[in-house]
Amino acid sequence: MQNAERKYAGTLLGCAVGDAVGLCYQFAHLPGEKREPLESFSYLPFGRYPPGQYSDDTDMTLAIVRAILERGEVSGPSIAKEFVRMWETCPVVDPGISCSDAIEALIRGAPWDGSGTSEGRAGNGTAMRASPIGLWDYDDMEKLRRDSEIQSVITHKDRRAVAGAIAVAAAVAYNVKNGELDCENFISFIKAECRIDGGGPYLQYLDDMPKLLGMPEAEAISIIARAGQEQRFSGSHITPFVVPTVLVSLYAFLKHPDSFLDALALVYRAGGDIDTTGAITGAISGSCLGAEQIPKHLKEGVLNGEYIAELARKLWQAKQERHGVRR
Ligand SMILES: [Mg+2]
Repeated sequence: MQNAERKYAGTLLGCAVGDAVGLCYQFAHLPGEKREPLESFSYLPFGRYPPGQYSDDTDMTLAIVRAILERGEVSGPSIAKEFVRMWETCPVVDPGISCSDAIEALIRGAPWDGSGTSEGRAGNGTAMRASPIGLWDYDDMEKLRRDSEIQSVITHKDRRAVAGAIAVAAAVAYNVKNGELDCENFISFIKAECRIDGGGPYLQYLDDMPKLLGMPEAEAISIIARAGQEQRFSGSHITPFVVPTVLVSLYAFLKHPDSFLDALALVYRAGGDIDTTGAITGAISGSCLGAEQIPKHLKEGVLNGEYIAELARKLWQAKQERHGVRR
C-alpha cells in the first residue's frame, strides 16, 4: 500500500474509532462507573447499539465520501442528497441540533446553499465531517478552502463553523502531503488557511499553541475550553462550540503525534463533546500515522470497519484517476 493510500484509510478509520470510543465513554458518565482504558467498545447501554457503534460524526463523514465518489468532485447538491438519504434511511446516533435543523430544511425542499442554520449557530457539525475534503484536496489548498465551504454551508452559515472545517481539512492535508510532522510547520500551515473571515479565534490560539503545548495538560485544556467563548463561560470541558472543539483536537494531536491512543485519551480526559473531539482527533492522528498504527482490536471492532476501509480505498483510487496517475 502506498504511503498516502494508507493515510486515507487511517483518516476514515481513525474518525470512526475516535467517535465510537467517545460514544462509549459518554455513556460512562454515571456516578461511580469506571472508564476502561480504550480496551474495548464496552459501555454501550443495554444492547441498544451494536458493538463499535459510531455517531453522526462518522455517518456524515462517510456521506461526504460517497458524494465525492458519485460525482468525482465535491458538489453541494450531491452532499446534500447524501445527507438526506442518510437521515431517511439510517438510525443516525446522537445528531447535532444545527445539522438536524438544516437537513430537515433540505427534506422540506430548501436548496443546499439555503438550508444552513443562521450566523451565531457555530456548532462543531462542519468540522466533525471535514476530513474527506483534506483527503480529496490535499494538493490544492485553494480548492480545499472552496470545497470546505461547500460542505459546510449546507448545515451552517456561521463563518467560524466554515473556518473550523477548513482548519481540520488543512490538518489532514498537511499529514497526507508530508512524511514527518514538523510541529512549527504544521501550525504555520493551518494558520495560513485560517486567515479568512471567521478564522480569527483559531489564529489567536494557534499563535499560542507552542505555549499551550508546554504547560500542564489540565491548564492548557481549561484555556482552550474557553477559546472564542463569551466571557461569562467558565466551564473547563469542551462544549459543542466549533472553536474549542477544533483547537483541542489539534492540541491533542500535536501533544501526542506518535500515538493514536494517547491523542484520543487526551480528548476523552478533556471531557464534553467527546465523540466529536474523538472523531476529529482520530481522523487527524490517523492521517499522520496511517491505518496500521490504529490498534487492531479497535479498527476491526468498529462498526462497518471493512466498508469504511473500502470507501477509503475507493476515494484514493478516484483521486489517482482524477490526476491521470497510473496505479
Ligand atoms: Mg456525534
